[in-house]
Amino acid sequence: MQSEKFPLVFAGHVDHGKSTIIGRLLSETGSLPEGKLEAIKNYCKLNSRPFEYAFLIDALKDEQSQGITIDTARVFFSTQKRDFVIIDAPGHIEFLKNMVTGASRAEAAILVIAADEGVRENSRRHGYMLSILGIRQIVVLVNKMDLAGYSEEVFNRIKEEYTAFLDEIGIKPLGFVPVSGINGVNISAKSKETPWYDGRTLYEFLDVFKAKEHSAKQPFRMFLQDIYRFTESGDNRRIYAGTVNSGTLKKGDGIVFYPSGKKSRVAKIETFPESDKTSVEAGFAAGFTLEEQIYATRGELVAKAGEPAPQSASRFQAAVFWLGSEPLSRNHTYFIKVGTARTTLRLVEVTKLIDTSSLESKSGSEVGKFEAAECIFEAGKPIAFDPIGDNQETGRFVIVGDYEIRGGGIILKPLSDAPFAAKIDTSERERRFGHKAAVIAVESENFAVELEKNLFALGAFVCWFPDLELSQNLHELELLAKSGMLVIVKSEGNGSESLKNKENLVFMHLSEDKNGSVEAAINELRTSGILSL
Ligand code: GDP
Repeated sequence: MQSEKFPLVFAGHVDHGKSTIIGRLLSETGSLPEGKLEAIKNYCKLNSRPFEYAFLIDALKDEQSQGITIDTARVFFSTQKRDFVIIDAPGHIEFLKNMVTGASRAEAAILVIAADEGVRENSRRHGYMLSILGIRQIVVLVNKMDLAGYSEEVFNRIKEEYTAFLDEIGIKPLGFVPVSGINGVNISAKSKETPWYDGRTLYEFLDVFKAKEHSAKQPFRMFLQDIYRFTESGDNRRIYAGTVNSGTLKKGDGIVFYPSGKKSRVAKIETFPESDKTSVEAGFAAGFTLEEQIYATRGELVAKAGEPAPQSASRFQAAVFWLGSEPLSRNHTYFIKVGTARTTLRLVEVTKLIDTSSLESKSGSEVGKFEAAECIFEAGKPIAFDPIGDNQETGRFVIVGDYEIRGGGIILKPLSDAPFAAKIDTSERERRFGHKAAVIAVESENFAVELEKNLFALGAFVCWFPDLELSQNLHELELLAKSGMLVIVKSEGNGSESLKNKENLVFMHLSEDKNGSVEAAINELRTSGILSL
């Protein structure tokens, strides 16, 4: 269901003051349960601990079972203009999962950098991750300004350094604010400590954020979640259900399921309880029946006929952010989840590897923890999606390995399903094996066995295939030859005719001399330029 609350995320290096600022914000916006602040202050006094706003968050979390304003992942507060929900911070697996699966989707981020420590690893990593996830509205708080004597110079230095970083990843922040979470400087009111700063306070920036338009102008998209049948009550309806990712769907609209390409028309928008609603839009759970029943499966992407179609591909280029402790590698089969679609996933190639903290490109064929990369992936079956540039909603995915979410990312573009050309040159194989790839036909089985043994002893990459037939197994022969192998098969009269048009196959018919000498045959291979061993 659509939430009226504006989803916001706080990011930044540990101990730079996120909880403190959130605590301040809750208190200064009057969003705390009555008496809570006093109770914590008293508790701190009694225990001779200095009061920390961060305790407030912890205390509130402990009380989630009492159903007040907070649960482990969400804190609510309001400005005069609107309500906000703070969702968990980047870097947590849960955050990534929620962001990419759409369980919660931050539309803006507050990045906190402590003035005394300056830009640190996570300041950069979180920034990078926000950019991957397509969060463009970012306000940077330079916190702990009290520890820097509220120095304009310190503020400007951090602002410059971090602006340059964000610039490289394509983010233009809405602004930088010098704050002190502890002293409440520039949080909800302009403070005298920073007379040189004439920009907005944090509170003022909150009202600048623009809520995402669940625009009716965008093409309709809905990942099919389930098909409900009511056969028990003699009701033949099949209700196709999901949550609308974008656009609007009306009774009578023609729809297409991707990747299957099956088509039908909406007979009725179904609601529970029954209502006379005839359309449903982005952000809402939807159910509809079709004029013509079709067989569709969970994970298909429903689009509207006449609107731009989504892409369908099993090979695609994607930007990923890896959080698993084991690197993302080609030796492992993963699962990918895009919307409600789920299938196996293999890494084909890492095309660009990035250290998210230094933004340096590195070389490597695996993606380690906290690294980001552009990769080519191959899914076990075609998946429907929109490249992130076209639709923010349907191109995000998570990667699951060993039952846990290990990483996530966005699909950049579909790739054709044609297999990749081998990167190893034929001549490289020839050099390694000491011979060309060739199909060698011999007359007798005994001879084949002897020839294989002798060539193998010389170090050749050779195999005798008693069951392969020249005329019947052309495809197999080609595949074997591609690997650089000397393939021995039994000659079968005119069978070799079928190899004539195969320019990429070297073929040789070896005849046994009267003594059945393998030596002579091997010499023949040498003189014909096939064998150099
Ligand atoms: P988080 O890990 O980013 O959530 O950071 P916390 O909010 O837990 O703060 C970490 C430490 O920094 C705590 O001891 C806070 O009291 C302290 N801190 C937070 N904001 C300020 C500030 O504006 N000035 C000073 N001097 N200390 C702060």
